[in-house]
Amino acid sequence: RFDSIPLAPPDAILGLTEAFAADTRSEKMNLSVGVYKDASGVTPILKCVKEAEKQLIESEKTKGYLPINGQPDYRSQVQQLVFGDRVESDRIAMVQAPGGTGALRVAGEFLARQCSPTRVFLPSPTWANHNAIMQSAGAPVESYTYLADDRRSLNFEGMLSDLRDKTRPGDAVLLHACCHNPTGVDPTAEQWQEIARVISSQGLIPVLDFAYQGFGDGLEADAVGLHTVLDKCAEAIVCSSYSKNFGLYSERVGAIGLVASNPAAASASLSQLKVLVRSNYSNPPRHGAAIVATILADQELTRLWKTELDEMRIRITQLREKFVEGMAKQAGAPDFSFLLKQKGMFSYSGLTAMQADELRTKYGVYVVGSGRINVAGMDEDRMDWLCGAVAGVLS
Ligand code: PMP
Repeated sequence: RFDSIPLAPPDAILGLTEAFAADTRSEKMNLSVGVYKDASGVTPILKCVKEAEKQLIESEKTKGYLPINGQPDYRSQVQQLVFGDRVESDRIAMVQAPGGTGALRVAGEFLARQCSPTRVFLPSPTWANHNAIMQSAGAPVESYTYLADDRRSLNFEGMLSDLRDKTRPGDAVLLHACCHNPTGVDPTAEQWQEIARVISSQGLIPVLDFAYQGFGDGLEADAVGLHTVLDKCAEAIVCSSYSKNFGLYSERVGAIGLVASNPAAASASLSQLKVLVRSNYSNPPRHGAAIVATILADQELTRLWKTELDEMRIRITQLREKFVEGMAKQAGAPDFSFLLKQKGMFSYSGLTAMQADELRTKYGVYVVGSGRINVAGMDEDRMDWLCGAVAGVLS
């Protein structure tokens, strides 16, 4: 019974967060977490969110359940954000989900139940939870080549040949639409064209994980890969998250946007997605989605949101630049300018697990064992100190 249950292994990243909290050194710096931080080290509540919440407190009339597929105005607002006018509305099944994770889980269950014997191909490496989510959903998982041996660029040929040679028609391919986590390495616009061509000609189902729209090059620019795929493929699943770009991490705001080749297929898919939601969490939470819907329905709040999102993105870019400059000043340190080509909050730093370990024990700088760093966790006022520490473990 319960007393014979073995202990599950701790989550690698959350374990580091706990160790960081317990670390008494004042100079400690946490580059391991997966959230945005501002210059004072805080994960802020955006002003547009605070304003929307004020309005909601006044206007909210009920805490009654939402429909199984979520709040209608939220669904239409995020549908516009993700798809624009690219896909006819009656070919899209839109379902509000509890975060990007919830969206991926429901999408995985849909693939496992409705598209069997679909296998889900994940990039290597990928966000660690992708594997766990797809496996829990009952979808068989495979991987395709993504990162080159230099661990800082895309192995584009390897990726294409895996997508061509390892897959069968009907398999699903998970793609990070932008800001690849954990590497920060994204395909170029031209490479997306080729990727979309291969997916289409092989008859694969593209599953786009869109968790960082606006964190790479901007809202529109970050949707280029997604739009390229949608232009070439009649079917797709987009799992979007508003945790990062609205700073709504704990409110659990996401969506599944399933594109079918015709309206009847979209309706049938929607009905099946609703069955999955019903037996899973019944219906999604209201508050976070109401915040997003309120902001996107209001021109002023949308303008404020875009400004605040720009600020987050620009800060991340500036931190990348300062770190690269700082490392260039360290005698004998390798060139880190590859970080400038990478997108979003994360990058593979090239540090080994041993070096990451040394960085933590010797300097109190916390980095995931893979060498992934959260650029937004860097303290810009102590950049030279950080670069000295990194150079210290590299020498
Ligand atoms: N996909 C990727 C690539 C992510 O990095 C994350 C969050 N770390 C998610 C999905 C899930 O985000 P959420 O917090 O909205 O569940």
